[in-house]
Amino acid sequence: MTSTEPTYTATQQEATPIPHWIDGAAHTSASGRTAPVYNPATGAVSAQVALADDAEVRLAIASAQRGYSVWSTYSVAKRQTVMFAFRELLNARKSDLAAIITSEHGKVLSDAMGEILRGQEVVELACGFPSIVKGAYSENVSTGIDVYSIKQPLGVVGIISPFNFPAMVPMWFFPIAIAAGNAVVLKPSEKDPSAALWIAQLWKEAGLPDGVFTVLQGDKLAVDGLLNSPVVQSISFVGSTPIAQYIYETASKSGKRVQALGGAKNHMLVLPDADLDLVADQAINAGYGAAGERCMAISVVLAVEPVADELIEKIKERIAKLRIGNGAAEVEPDMGPLISGVHRDKVSSYVDIAEADGADIVVDGRGFQVEGNEGGFFFGPTLLDRVPISSRAYTEEIFGPVLSIVRVQSYDEGVELINSGEFGNGTAIFTNDGGAARRFQHEIHVGMIGVNVPIPVPVAYHSFGGWKASLFGDAKAYGVHGFDFFTREKAITARWIDPAKRDERTHGGINL
Ligand code: NAD
Repeated sequence: MTSTEPTYTATQQEATPIPHWIDGAAHTSASGRTAPVYNPATGAVSAQVALADDAEVRLAIASAQRGYSVWSTYSVAKRQTVMFAFRELLNARKSDLAAIITSEHGKVLSDAMGEILRGQEVVELACGFPSIVKGAYSENVSTGIDVYSIKQPLGVVGIISPFNFPAMVPMWFFPIAIAAGNAVVLKPSEKDPSAALWIAQLWKEAGLPDGVFTVLQGDKLAVDGLLNSPVVQSISFVGSTPIAQYIYETASKSGKRVQALGGAKNHMLVLPDADLDLVADQAINAGYGAAGERCMAISVVLAVEPVADELIEKIKERIAKLRIGNGAAEVEPDMGPLISGVHRDKVSSYVDIAEADGADIVVDGRGFQVEGNEGGFFFGPTLLDRVPISSRAYTEEIFGPVLSIVRVQSYDEGVELINSGEFGNGTAIFTNDGGAARRFQHEIHVGMIGVNVPIPVPVAYHSFGGWKASLFGDAKAYGVHGFDFFTREKAITARWIDPAKRDERTHGGINL
């Protein structure tokens, strides 16, 4: 392996399973456990990924512990040099990473690039870490006494990420964790594991000491190994709500810091005065972009009557123009496939449920196929109307290109529906009434709110996180929350004798 040669390419057929990254190098697994990795656009198995056993989990954590002992001695200036080098390499080579993401996840290339850019924002924030973790100093709080605080890294920290953003979600955490002086063990999703290895290689080239960024491929066994290790100081998790809750409860029981971000069911509230062309454009983007596999996707449009019929017509017109296909195709489609055949069938079953519960199927994506890619895990954009709020198709997260219209009679009815839901990740209001928007942001029980913006993912210097079943713990991702999460603060109260006052010293101490 040379420094300019990426280890993993989008098209590589792995003879041996996709490995771990331990001690600054690819580490072939000896566990004998593997899982298939698919190209979702063709449905073909492109590789097998290693699934760690207990010995490999221990090996990864021990290497991270050694990495931490080196990295924590690096000066602020040296750490910053590595951070900037990583940022430059990422910026220069991000199209290679986008190709890897598309080959394993299926999202179109421009979407893959979009997630890298959002992750890169966090890298750029982390490059400026000295001004955020520099602590504070209060002079002469009592005569001759100063108080100051310093922020120190936690040590070895664990990150467990979902399939839907194989680069961006890990990047919500590791740039800040590493900049603050920690060593990271990343357990990526076993469905698209190669992006993490590509990133590991980049860190090596940027000059990060071995062991500071480790990739542990695996499933529940690897996750439980991180949760139960006394060496691992914190867990940052993103995934579905049941697993987020399990992670939160298990890791907190052993005294770790935990941030566990869960699932979502995001509503867009459309008031009658809204610009319906803007709403329809944004509903298409937020409902069907990345095939709806975004935790901030809009899955429910709450149309305050009388706008529903007109809005549905506008959304239908736009759906008819969407192009669905292989995300890596030369002429880029608007939407790629879902992550797996199992997931496609689950999404399809929700449309069956909605239909059985009495919803109108306005546009039906079930059984959708792409010519030439008949084996791909495609599902057509689907529009449902009059979805009953008692239906599981309304209450549960579908995580696919299915947009449900629920007709409501008033602003208050819409707000009540949003606030009574299980999740509280994102929401949006579309209106030209500033007073209504202001009231909405005040009274809605959701962590991230858009005003005429459908996917309100905060920029890196604000923090990302939902409420209710969308976030367990009290620490959001990135921004100031991120730096607080990955550091421990010490407050020091100090008294030094003023040399000018030595004469006033009494026998046992100084005169105050
Ligand atoms: P998932 O919960 O199935 O998996 C997430 C991670 O947990 C993976 O690394 C997986 O290997 C691991 N895991 C799975 N089952 C486990 C178990 N029983 N015990 C321990 N670990 C386990 O989620 P996913 O399908 O990869 O991702 C989609 C979900 O993630 C959706 O619910 C989506 O809303 C959510 N998500 C949320 C956010 C957010 O910011 N709130 C962001 C992205 C994705």
